This record gives sequence, structure tokens and C-alpha cells, in this order.
Amino acid sequence: MASPRYLTKSRFKLAAECPTKLFYTGKEDVYRNTKQEDSFLAMLADGGYQVGELAKCLFPNGIEVDAIGHDAALARTNELLQQDKVIIFEAAIAFEDLFVRIDVLVKDGNQFELIEVKAKSYNSTNPEIVGARGDLLSGMRAYLEDVAFQAHVLRSALPTAQVKTYLMMPDKSVKVNVDGLNQLFKIERAGKRSKVITSPKAKDAQFNHDILAKVCVDDYVAMVMSGGVLYMDLKDKLPTLARQWSEAYRLDQKIQPLPGKHCANCEFQSKPGDGMLSGFHECWMDKFGFSEADFAQGTVLDIWNYRGKSKLINDGRVRLRSVREDDIKPHGDGLTLSVSERQWMQINGIPAKEDKGGFWIAESHMQKEMDSWTYPYHFIDFETSTVAIPFYAGMHPYEPIAFQFSHHVMQQDGSVAHADEFLMTAPDAFPNFVFVRALREALSKDEGTIFMWSAHENTILTRIARQLQETANPPDDASDLIGFIESVTKGGKRAMYDLFKLSKDAYFHVDTRGSNSIKKVLPAVLTSSAWLKQHYSQPVYGGKGAMTSRNYQDFVWWQQGQDGKPLEPYALLANYGADLLGEPLQAMEDPDDLVIAEGGAAATAYARLQFEDMKPETRDKINAALLRYCELDTLAMVMIVQGWRDFTR
Ligand code: SF4
Repeated sequence: MASPRYLTKSRFKLAAECPTKLFYTGKEDVYRNTKQEDSFLAMLADGGYQVGELAKCLFPNGIEVDAIGHDAALARTNELLQQDKVIIFEAAIAFEDLFVRIDVLVKDGNQFELIEVKAKSYNSTNPEIVGARGDLLSGMRAYLEDVAFQAHVLRSALPTAQVKTYLMMPDKSVKVNVDGLNQLFKIERAGKRSKVITSPKAKDAQFNHDILAKVCVDDYVAMVMSGGVLYMDLKDKLPTLARQWSEAYRLDQKIQPLPGKHCANCEFQSKPGDGMLSGFHECWMDKFGFSEADFAQGTVLDIWNYRGKSKLINDGRVRLRSVREDDIKPHGDGLTLSVSERQWMQINGIPAKEDKGGFWIAESHMQKEMDSWTYPYHFIDFETSTVAIPFYAGMHPYEPIAFQFSHHVMQQDGSVAHADEFLMTAPDAFPNFVFVRALREALSKDEGTIFMWSAHENTILTRIARQLQETANPPDDASDLIGFIESVTKGGKRAMYDLFKLSKDAYFHVDTRGSNSIKKVLPAVLTSSAWLKQHYSQPVYGGKGAMTSRNYQDFVWWQQGQDGKPLEPYALLANYGADLLGEPLQAMEDPDDLVIAEGGAAATAYARLQFEDMKPETRDKINAALLRYCELDTLAMVMIVQGWRDFTR
């Protein structure tokens, strides 16, 4: 029998982003869904399952509804609700076509506490829920609407119940008082299902319960019920929307699309050649009569960092070519590329006399910056994670964890070495102080310029300096490490140089669509530079020549694709990783989880290594994939600098 098409809390949340998405969701064989991910991995990455399990420890008498399927879960919940006093985890409640699983439902006679547990950082000393004008802050609204939806279903199903509503979230202002709290819950995966393995120590753990703040949200839920649910730029009463959306979902009817700037992040977008339907294309064809040629020429959604998209869409000007110069008002200093000049270049193209072959470069500014650099050049990149529940006593929730760096060095003669790498993923091990010590060792052999791409590295080092100052048990060399951090971060005598900023100020390529992400800039530079093509078409990387590597051998990074352009190096990395895995994989290994070709996957991999019970061989494969990925991130910086040098020679 087909399972009922209920409007669940996740579908309610999806509809609040855009109600048309209800039609595309759950049809993964037909419509591409870029957010279709393993929910297990997503929970691992954001700390959701850790927080959920820790919350259960606060209710030792709680009973979990672990029945599979809607009907069985509803029946079990009803059975438990016959008791006068009961605490239920994952209580299943339905009303008409609405169905929710409540994280924690506390029943005492006719009094109910509905508790939604969220891996969302919260600061009880400075709770940010409403803004200065008394309206719900955008960062909290979705959570409060979620609770309001659950409360609506519960009150509708049990009309006489007195319901109080709560959010339970890790409190960043509280320090944990025991070591190893985040290692109490491991997870074991078996195919699509997973099982939490709770350490026998969990029931005796004397941890500070304030680490999870239980925040009464009755007033905010009342605001949602009276003021309505915000969806796109519209608002309507929650019961009205719940009825409309649940009916459309039950009947599998598409709610007419109202495309707007929210479409920029729509997950229902196919890629050319993937054989899937694209919800995004359907919506824009329906509403704006778009053709394939229109999509190829671009939409106003593509304009980089532009705030006027809604106005243009409301005016019916949705094609990139319909944007006029006075919409953008490009202006700058004549030396570097301002944001508005970059936007206008993206729309109107590069002026013919400044076009170097699909790209623009501020040669004098680039040259001046390069003249300020000192050899040998050091290129560094970090992989980091934030874990909801801290490793050690004295730490706050959501401390950043720096578990990996890569370091390339370029000498004045052009030789390049992958000089150092650091990776610390063992469970129980807090890497940050060892990480900084290894980084200091790697960078302290000379006074060459240190390069990063964006300010992330600066932010992480600054946070680690604070951890060194605040920890109850600082290492003996804490003051040396802090001194090193101060010297290489903003304001320091050897402050890291941000190549992202240089790219933003001085480089534009039509293929980047205005973006300065390293993953967009690298293929663009590889496409334009004759020197890079000639050099990296040979197996020069990781051989006996002038480029040493720790994770690649005789690798060819410039490989021509069908369109004559080079294949994207991050795609090559994914293919290389998949090839290296070989056969046979261990049982339960998913090749997609063992190939890491983007930063989000690296943080997820770190979470798996911390909290998943896995075979040593799988652990080794993930570590190897992390090393290859991080090495490419610093090699990408090397290649971009080599390309820019080629352009300014
Ligand atoms: S393309 Fe826009 S209108 Fe269509 S489903 Fe996505 S967000 Fe909604």
C-alpha cells in the first residue's frame, strides 16, 4: 500500500521556501535535487544527531517511538499517551494530512511540553530571537515556524491539551564541564539505516545540563500564529497555508510558481547532460517563457553580489541582457575593479580594447601587488569543522576545529614543492594546538610571503589564539604559539596575503560569472594561460622534476575536455579519487563518500571519522582522500599565481 502523502515538518519548511518545491520533492528519479543528500551525513556534519542524543540524556525516563512507518508510529504514540505522565521521544502526531514527529513530548495529565531539539548555536547571555523592531529575526524565523507548525498539529489532534513550546539548543555561553562528551554517542551505518551506539558511560556522565538551553518560545509561536508564516515575500495564516500545501501535496498538484530571487538557490536544477528534469527550468519557462537560449545567455540571478534582483524581476526584466547601465551604475577608482564594475562587465561584456581573450586584468595593480611579495612564497589552506558538542572540559559548543592544512612553497626559480601537510582526525584528539605548532614549524624557516584564499585562515587562527588564552590547561608553548599567530594574522608583521581579494580587485573572466571562488577562478585561469597549458599538459606534477607532491604521481592537470577547454581540476580529482578506490570496496562503503572534492565534503568526512564506527581500511581511504583534496586547494593557488604572472609578463 502506498504510504500517505502527509505534509510533514520538513515538507512544511520546504514549502515555506517556495510552495512549488512540494511538486518536485520526492521525485528523485525524475527531477534533479542538488540537496538530495544522505540525511545521515547531513546530521553528522551539523552535529544534529549528537545534540539530539545528548538532549535525550536530560530525560532519563523518556521512551523512544522507534516503530517504522506512519501507522505503526502513530499507534505506538497513542498507546504511550494513554499514560497520565510520560516522556516520548519522536512522538508521532497526525491531523488530517499533517504529520509531525516531535523530538521530545512531555505529558503530565493535560499539560504538554513540545520540545524541538536543534543543532543551532544559541547564546543565553545575548539571545537573538527578535530584532530591534520586535520582529522575528530571519535566522530564527524558520525554527519558530517549525515549532508553530508542530504545535498546530498537536493542538488540532488533541484540542483540549495545554501545550507549551520550547526550543532546545547548544548554549555557546556555557562551558562543558567534562572531557569526551562528544564521544559518548557513536553511530553505526547499515545501508540506508543507521543505529546510535550509546556508550555505557553516558548514563553516568555528570555533565552540565545547561550546555543545552531549553528556551520557552510560546510568545514567538504566538507571533507566528497571529502574524502568519513568511514564504518568499508573502505572508499568510499558518492553518490556511498548512491546508493549501497539504492538499496540493496529497493530490500531487503543482502550486503555480512565483519565481523570484529565491530561485537562485533552488535545489531542483539539473545540469546539462545529466538526463534529469529541471524544476527551475520548468518554472522559468512557465512564468517567463524562457527558451534554452535564454537560460544560456543568463538571468538576473547570475549577477554577482547584486541587491537589486527582486526589483528587476518585479519589473519583468529577468534576462541578463535586459539589465541597463543605470540599474548598476558602475563606478570605481580606475585602478581596480569595483563590485559595480564587475557586475556591469558580467552583463555588458569586457570592453573590446581591454579584452585579453575572455578576461580582464588590472595589470598595474596586479604588478604592484606582486612586487610587494617576498620569495619563497608559501601557500596555505585549512580544512576545519565546528562540532556542536565540545571535546574537552572548559570548551564551549561550536568551537572551530582545525584538523588539516596543506602547504606549497614556490621558489624564485619557479620550482614548487608540496612542502608540508597536516591531518589529525583520530577520535578523542583535539587537533588545534598541535595544528598551530605544525604550521609554525612549516612557516618559520624563512620570511617569505604567506598566501591564503579568503579570510578563513585568519579567522581560524585568531580563534585558536583565544582558545590558547582561555583553556584551563594551556600547553607549555602557549605564549609562543599565540605570538606566532599574532605575527601571521591581520595586523601582524608577516600577515597572510589574501589572494581572494586580489582576484576580486584585479581579475575577471567571463566563465566565472563574476565569482571569485577558487573553484571558478582556477579553471578560468587554466583556460586562458598558454604557459599553464603547456606546463600542466605534461606529467610534471609529483614526478622527479621541479614539482614535488605528497599525494600525486606524474599527474597531468591540464586535460582537454570535449569543448576544447581544460577539464576542471576538482572534477579530475573526483575521478582520480574514484579510480584509486578500486575494487572491491568494503561492505557498506559508498564510493561517493570516499571521494572528497569540495570543502563541505571534507568537514563531513571529518565528522564521520569522529563519530562513525568504521573499519580501519575505510578510515584510511577517507584520510587519503582528504590529503589529496587539501593538496589541490594549495596547488590551485600556485597555478593561479603562475597564470597571473603569465598574463602580466
Ligand atoms: S525555481 Fe523558483 S519558483 Fe521554481 S521551485 Fe525553485 S524556487 Fe520555486
